[in-house]
Amino acid sequence: MMKKGVLSIMVILGLSMLLVACSQSASGEEKFNAGTYEGVSTGHGGEVIATVTLTKDEIASIDIAAEGETESIGEGASAQVIASIINSQSLAVDAVSGATTSSEAIIEAVTLALEEAGADIDALKDPANKIEVATEQQEDLDVDVVVIGSGGAGMAAAVEAKAAGKSVVILEKMPILGGNTNRATGGMNAAETSVQADLGIEDSKTIFYEDTMSGGKEINNPDLVQTLVDHASESVDWINGLGADLSDVVIFGGQSVPRTHRPADGSPVGPVVVEVLSNKLKKEEVQILLETTAVKLLEEDGEIKGVEATDKQNHSFTVLAKSVVLATGGFGANSEMVVEYNENFEGFSTTNHKGALGSGIKMAEAVGADLTDIAEIQAHPTTDPETGYMFTEAVRGDGGILINQEGQRFIDELETRDVVSKAILEKSGSVAFLVANDAMREKNASLAKYIEHGYGVEGDTFEDLAKAMHVDAKTLTQTMKQYASYVANGSDEAYGRDNLAEAFEEGKYYAIPVTPSVHHTMGGLRIDTKARVLNKDGAPIKGLYAAGEVTGGIHGANRLGGNAIADILTFGRIAGMTAASEIE
Ligand code: ADP
Repeated sequence: MMKKGVLSIMVILGLSMLLVACSQSASGEEKFNAGTYEGVSTGHGGEVIATVTLTKDEIASIDIAAEGETESIGEGASAQVIASIINSQSLAVDAVSGATTSSEAIIEAVTLALEEAGADIDALKDPANKIEVATEQQEDLDVDVVVIGSGGAGMAAAVEAKAAGKSVVILEKMPILGGNTNRATGGMNAAETSVQADLGIEDSKTIFYEDTMSGGKEINNPDLVQTLVDHASESVDWINGLGADLSDVVIFGGQSVPRTHRPADGSPVGPVVVEVLSNKLKKEEVQILLETTAVKLLEEDGEIKGVEATDKQNHSFTVLAKSVVLATGGFGANSEMVVEYNENFEGFSTTNHKGALGSGIKMAEAVGADLTDIAEIQAHPTTDPETGYMFTEAVRGDGGILINQEGQRFIDELETRDVVSKAILEKSGSVAFLVANDAMREKNASLAKYIEHGYGVEGDTFEDLAKAMHVDAKTLTQTMKQYASYVANGSDEAYGRDNLAEAFEEGKYYAIPVTPSVHHTMGGLRIDTKARVLNKDGAPIKGLYAAGEVTGGIHGANRLGGNAIADILTFGRIAGMTAASEIE
């Protein structure tokens, strides 16, 4: 079972870095009141509690407990921020890129603990008092397999390559592990799984194949889809075997049968996947270099021999490798590249982390890799109009409906993402409301979090809700009552929605404004079923493998919700296995 919600990280002074100065105050006076102090702040997912231990000269240790903080992001941020504070003996430290809210909450909680200790906060916040830290330059490496990118695909590949007895190193350009996988909320699709069998859900790989092809508008690569549906069920057992607990199954848009596997409490799937894989990599002692960017693939006589990279200090170094696995994710956060390939997305926000820039695609193109479906870019229909923050499709799967500014439904909410996005963009202001109630909030931890964080408006009755939404109360009430009658009759006469999970007979009611944002880039490197990267003649480029969002062909013109985690774990594992087995 997973240990949920609690982060507890101790960093002891001077363990990882070389201090070039001593922290004792120049006057020789005692700098701190020795003892242990506590400070509490609010993070992304609730309270962040810092327990800070001081000697008379130093901040000796910091322990962070963050119930409800997104585990992998929070943990990465905790480790980095704590190391920075302790090593520099200063509060003038930077937030960790990609985990700003968590970092700021940790710094705030530590500051409050130091205030409690009566420390001189102004002096600690003054950058002039920081202890400078020297970091050694990364030396060149020589390994069997180098994996570029530490999202779900990269981590799965690394686990399998290591299991095959190979030496493995992961390069990750961000300061935290997990990439966009940290943000995956919904779940993982698979058919004919042991979990579905336990729940009495009858599904088949054939229907999974057909749903995926039809969701992708039949332009998907049939062989890749077949490989996905054949092995996704093993991937569920594999990730559960590593400690995830994907034991609940729900239905997402485009599915004929419920097949999206998610944590039992309905919490986001991505952080769970990242946590169990990073624990496994730690256990297997796989080397991971953070803040390390792959810049160029090394090629000799048409064969890939490794990668040129830059370390934390921007020094260049080389990783010689017999196999290179590209798992760098998509390009959703690179608005120039998005518009270059598809001008319909001009001006769109994105749900992606800021490392999703498409560098893997560029690096592979430079050694002759072929691209497929590159203009196929998906918007996620339900994201915050200001920030692009995504509200999982599981809210609709659990019964959520969409209402326009006129107080009316306008679509089968479980249509595929492209169809729902298009329908919202046609509405006034390109904004609709995602409507839910307390019964749904109880079974969906993600929804509970959105409400807790103040997204959207609420009301005890439809009239109250309409007022808060600034829509006509009569129309909204009529829409909701009519929908309740569809649910009672088991037939949505207006839009033909099959899954009618909630009648909205009881409040409290919630309405979250939503608009589409760039979410997934379906196109990318052309690969074969063994995850070998193909050149423009359709032949494998020796020594180069790829998996996850950096590749194209699996999702065709539209990825179904829940198919990304299925893809990254299934093809990530295949890439790791092939990369290991093809080493001569
Ligand atoms: P996937 O879902 O396919 O696994 P993710 O977006 O979750 O993709 O993860 C991709 C990871 O690759 C991200 O953590 C990203 O920061 C990292 N990455 C992207 N480009 C590079 C690069 N050039 N060097 C090192 N890491 C990279």
